[in-house]
Amino acid sequence: MKIICIGRNYAEHAKELNNPVPTVPVIFMKPDTAILKDNKPFYHPDFSNDIHHELEIVLKIAKEGKHIAEKFAHKYYNEIGLGIDFTARDIQQKHKEKGLPWELAKSFDHSAPISHFIPKDQFKDLYQLNFHLELNGQTVQKGNTSDLLFQFEKLIAFVSQYITLKKGDLIFTGTPEGVGKVNIGDHLVGYLEGEKLLDFVIK
Ligand code: ZN
Repeated sequence: MKIICIGRNYAEHAKELNNPVPTVPVIFMKPDTAILKDNKPFYHPDFSNDIHHELEIVLKIAKEGKHIAEKFAHKYYNEIGLGIDFTARDIQQKHKEKGLPWELAKSFDHSAPISHFIPKDQFKDLYQLNFHLELNGQTVQKGNTSDLLFQFEKLIAFVSQYITLKKGDLIFTGTPEGVGKVNIGDHLVGYLEGEKLLDFVIK
């Protein structure tokens, strides 16, 4: 399986990092070794002093498809969950300045903690979903899918023009504003529509 991530899909987050608001989706990938499941602890790597949390809604691809038309894209995902796109912001910043790829900042082991997945038909409106992240009991990120620049169907249509999507692939759909540093000892809890899905510590 593969993990496709969307960058800058919420305007306020693009602005907080002084990035332009994109006109087409910005994508990058993480390998399957980035996955961290079952709320296991995240071990802070020693190659970065500025690992940031990015709370995101994650789509699980339900069947193989390429060149998927936007109007049929809803058939290609049945479940959604939450994930953290851990980012070594210090490494990313250096690589951005030099115009280099982001993999070292984004694709390291366990940089993609994910929750369990929930059938999408359990939600009344996928574009009115509230999700938020608490860091040591304080809300640090708060998003609503009504603020997405590119909705889920658009992302699936866009990505599948270039990359065949397969059953079990994950799409991280971008983070709202409020990203920030995590430290050893921190406790992260992520909620989707009030339901606690992520709950783990940084070790
Ligand atoms: Zn992200």
